[in-house]
Amino acid sequence: MKDETKCLHSGYTPTDGAPSVMPIVQSTTYRFESSDHMAALFDTPTAPMYSRFANPTVDAVEQKIADLEGGVGAMCTSSGMAAVLVSVLNLCSAGDSIVSSAAVYGGTVNLFSVTLKKYGIECIFVDVDADEDTLRTAIKPNTKLVFGETIANPALTVLDIEMWAKVAHEAGLPLIIDNTFATPILCKPIEFGADIVIHSTSKYMDGHALQNGGVIVDSGNFDWTNGKFPEFTEPDESYHGIIYTKDFGKAAYIIKARMQLMRDFGCYPAAHSAFLLNLGLETMPLRMERYCENGLKVAQYLKASDKVEAVRYAALEGDKYHELAKKYLPKGTCGVISVDIKGGREKAGKFIDSLKLASCEVHVADIRTCVLHPASTTHRQLTDEQLIASGANPAMVRISVGLENVDDIIADIEQALAQI
Ligand SMILES: *Cc1c(COP(=O)(O)O)cnc(C)c1O
Repeated sequence: MKDETKCLHSGYTPTDGAPSVMPIVQSTTYRFESSDHMAALFDTPTAPMYSRFANPTVDAVEQKIADLEGGVGAMCTSSGMAAVLVSVLNLCSAGDSIVSSAAVYGGTVNLFSVTLKKYGIECIFVDVDADEDTLRTAIKPNTKLVFGETIANPALTVLDIEMWAKVAHEAGLPLIIDNTFATPILCKPIEFGADIVIHSTSKYMDGHALQNGGVIVDSGNFDWTNGKFPEFTEPDESYHGIIYTKDFGKAAYIIKARMQLMRDFGCYPAAHSAFLLNLGLETMPLRMERYCENGLKVAQYLKASDKVEAVRYAALEGDKYHELAKKYLPKGTCGVISVDIKGGREKAGKFIDSLKLASCEVHVADIRTCVLHPASTTHRQLTDEQLIASGANPAMVRISVGLENVDDIIADIEQALAQI
């Protein structure tokens, strides 16, 4: 099936007379005929047992997203940050390190550089444009994974996924890609060598700013038996001695994440959230097409304005990442644009305050056009160095172009620029 069809039909196939729409299974628990049946499920988790780590409504959405990304399995989480955290902790313990592109989401920078450090996991940040050798040098014997974002939030850089996958694989490490801004409609990182793909589903997947969520997708391609991941190849005593690679084969990573970490952390979404997420997914291909169309028109308008210092939007001819975008994102580069307003922080603030249609909010990838000043909001915890490394600067405004008529969006920007 093609993406549009998968978005409507993957994950849930109604049986004769069943509801056409995946129902909300609002139950904490599930009833079994015998304890033998239940015991068998502890060995092979093929059906939900308890909604802290599995639920039929969430499961349908997980299958749909796995299908869209081309993975063997997926697990939803209660937020995008929970997906980042669980995807990393599924591979790392105290004493390990990870290598990450410096151009990643501010929350991820914070998690990697401050919070994980307290638990003994060190992160080495590498410039998103690093060459192969620089990336190689960052990898140490205790490194367990390499991490990056397809289109970085808010830097809007495009990662050379194939190159990063190659270097990671040479070192026997998996590449985890946060594909939030691209969505599987614009890029499928697994096709370029990514091993694990994660999303904040709060953004384009949900699409309507209704509920926070995240998802982790397992490509099933990584060889966990290469000696670097004993937790996958030795018995898990917390799970009656199961050996993930032996018992679950290609789905070892995602089943370990569920049966070990989700069991213990419990950051699973509610069935109702998954139901809403599914509604967003159904129209995602159509919406992404329009975001790209509106985004490009707004980027072209901004580029031509004398009130604007710089525009970052990879689909724009002449953008630093235009060539990489042509390779990885041939259909477009979503609706998010970064723009540096001439005159710095103060003028950027004035511009935002003058907008009437676009709303100032802590969100991105919404159906409504919204704007944010990262330096004073989402990224205010970062040092100036981290701010610049993550692609933000004090004059930068992030515009998330929505699905209003593009003429109205541009008219709003025009009147706001006129006031600075
Ligand atoms: C928003 C975002 C996150 C965090 O997602 P939440 O759902 O807000 O927890 C992670 N990565 C990227 C790229 C994001 O844009």
